[in-house]
Amino acid sequence: MDYISTRGSAPTLDFRAATLAGLASDGGLYVPAAWPRLGTDDIRALAGLDYVETAVRIMAPFVAGVLSEDELRALCRAAYGRFSHDAVTPLVQLDHRHWLLELFHGPTLAFKDVALQLLGQLFETFLAGGDRDITIVGATSGDTGSAAIEAVAGREHIRIFMLHPEGRVSDVQRRQMTTVLAPNVHNIAIDGSFDDAQAMVKRLFGDEEARNRVTLSAVNSINWARLMAQIVYYFYAGVRLGAPDREIAFSVPTGNFGDVFAGYVAAQMGLPVAKLVVATNVNDILHRALTRGDYSAGHVTPTATPSMDIQVSSNFERLLFDLSGRDGGAIRRMMAEFDASRAMSIPEDMLAGARRLFSSARIDGDEMALALRWAQERGGQLIDPHSAVGLAAARALEIDADVPVVTLATAHPAKFPDAVERASGVRPPLPARLGNLFDREERYEKLPGDYDAVKAYILAEAARG
Ligand SMILES: *Cc1c(COP(=O)(O)O)cnc(C)c1O
Repeated sequence: MDYISTRGSAPTLDFRAATLAGLASDGGLYVPAAWPRLGTDDIRALAGLDYVETAVRIMAPFVAGVLSEDELRALCRAAYGRFSHDAVTPLVQLDHRHWLLELFHGPTLAFKDVALQLLGQLFETFLAGGDRDITIVGATSGDTGSAAIEAVAGREHIRIFMLHPEGRVSDVQRRQMTTVLAPNVHNIAIDGSFDDAQAMVKRLFGDEEARNRVTLSAVNSINWARLMAQIVYYFYAGVRLGAPDREIAFSVPTGNFGDVFAGYVAAQMGLPVAKLVVATNVNDILHRALTRGDYSAGHVTPTATPSMDIQVSSNFERLLFDLSGRDGGAIRRMMAEFDASRAMSIPEDMLAGARRLFSSARIDGDEMALALRWAQERGGQLIDPHSAVGLAAARALEIDADVPVVTLATAHPAKFPDAVERASGVRPPLPARLGNLFDREERYEKLPGDYDAVKAYILAEAARG
């Protein structure tokens, strides 16, 4: 499979190079040159397969030419062997038509593990035996940091530096990062805000001296391999609810548009998807874009669903690329307009294409809490606030009564105990496998909110090998 950029002028790469590159050199995002199709018999044949075999069938066309099926299977076994549930992403029934797809059984209790555990395996495989080391540098306000650290801890040819704002992440979130004591993991607590930390990371990536000394790689970059891993669970859930002979709707709590874009790819590959619901909180740029064509960045309002508190959704560019008829020049012009003015309007013909598959809903804090309580009282499930945003949108969806509606449950409730307790009156306990988190040794470096100090620390530690 070849990979091309959404902005049309970066070199075409194979899967290995696209995975290692992250962002394309023209500022665009890599996408496969064509969507592979599964016939109805191929989809029917997935019915009895376990998660790893499903993953191999779905991902094989995307890695063709770089990894054999056996190599891919070995990587999937290693990645998904670390999940605490044998089904990896089990389906749970809430009522006669609503289902939860639990994506939080990985090591850090958020759905990002599904993609990042595989990405860690891919990085190590692609760097093995070479003389190239990569240095991952990121800033986190919580979830991404721990998932990325768990994915690369102890791996050869990779080191990771993760900046977090000191005192501004929860104790659970900090300890999930700082108790990983592998020598290639470096946690840095910055005296400053998340935005300060993020700005330092951006500056480092543009710093020629730093770039000459280490091969920098971004963990929050929009890596195709992350999306690819997420296509699998749409098929895994879909065949269990009757695909290819029955249509399924999915509701997806959305931030960067990565997870829901994977659902779009599943539909392009042949999964009968009746609707994809883009569920946002009050930071609703995607809802405005899909309903009114108004894609304009505002200010972020902090909510009980921090992983969805975004200004812009980087992966939306991948959808726009398809909606434009894969016209890289058109996307380059649209994104240049957006970069200049922080706003663009999406042409009506492109919107009409999107609305055939997507719908959207904006869910405020009260609606979120109501859905959380409904799941608890009527469905017997304590869910996290992000999943509750998805469920609220799913329940508002107007669709044929015989279409099952699957809400993606993106985090374990114990990751957000305060918000869950506020809405439900119940404080979710940490799962047993994390039970001793508060007894483990922590290791991290405290640094002032000063770019030169942070850069000097990273370059010195990187040079120590
Ligand atoms: C990252 C995240 C999301 C948003 O996913 P996107 O792929 O960015 O749309 C939703 N819920 C949780 C818990 C997350 O960590």
